[in-house]
Amino acid sequence: MEKKDFIYEGKAKKVFTTDDPSLCLIEYKNSLTAFNALKKDSIEGKGRLNNLISSALFEYLRKEGIPTHFVERLDDLRQLVKKVTIVPIEVVVRNITTGTLCKRLGVEEGLRLPRPLVELYLKDDSLGDPIITEDHALLFGWATEGQLIRIKEITLKVNSLLTSLFSELGIILVDFKLEFGLDDKGNLLLADEISPDTCRFWDEQTKNRLDKDRFRKDLGDVLGAYEEIWRRLSSREARA
Ligand code: ADP
Ligand code: UDP
Repeated sequence: MEKKDFIYEGKAKKVFTTDDPSLCLIEYKNSLTAFNALKKDSIEGKGRLNNLISSALFEYLRKEGIPTHFVERLDDLRQLVKKVTIVPIEVVVRNITTGTLCKRLGVEEGLRLPRPLVELYLKDDSLGDPIITEDHALLFGWATEGQLIRIKEITLKVNSLLTSLFSELGIILVDFKLEFGLDDKGNLLLADEISPDTCRFWDEQTKNRLDKDRFRKDLGDVLGAYEEIWRRLSSREARA
């Protein structure tokens, strides 16, 4: 499958069309951004690790019955996916309090929530991805009621599958962000990526941060943390 026309360049990936109009090619970049792209850097090897990690996680979710855009990983940097129209909502799930939740609401950091908290944000960089309610999404036509129900259902299933998977690897899944899209038949598919750029992972024993918080907070050795996630995931794959 050859890449054809360039469609879009985002902060972490480039998207291309392919010979097949129902598929597109996603190429992972080394660039890393935080705080709505106010902080930027590029780390050699980051794109490859996110591609490997996201591909492995999407394959696992697909096997577990989650409808996803993922078709196959092509090489170190690229994957083939089903082309979707992205629902302009970022769905965040939180198991433990941290990040903007604590900043916004003044709640204590590191509390385990009695059940997962699902939040919706409008996917709009120019507005700084503001938090929205289901009613905003419905009234402004960003998603239908049926789609929101399905999004929440799939999101909670993904949370429970990934929480168990990472727990086997000695990692706490603190929070993460998902994106969804609609294929040409209107099917809702889990899209985009799931990686240390979009999740918070804490080592169960040491509580070391193994994700983009190392970049956000200048904790150092960002690549080493991403490598550690891939090392544990791939050793599980080798055992399976
Ligand atoms: P951003 O736009 O947030 O800077 P990226 O650099 O990750 O993000 O760019 C990738 C873009 O591709 C995102 O806008 C994402 O919503 C979109 N995307 C992800 N999966 C698909 C897909 N299967 N079909 C079409 N677009 C997709
Ligand atoms: N997240 C993301 N993209 C965003 C915003 C958040 O992938 O544009 C992820 C982030 O990595 C974390 C979770 O969603 O795992 C919750 O993030 P939070 O709201 O605390 O915001 P952040 O600290 O990322 O600004």
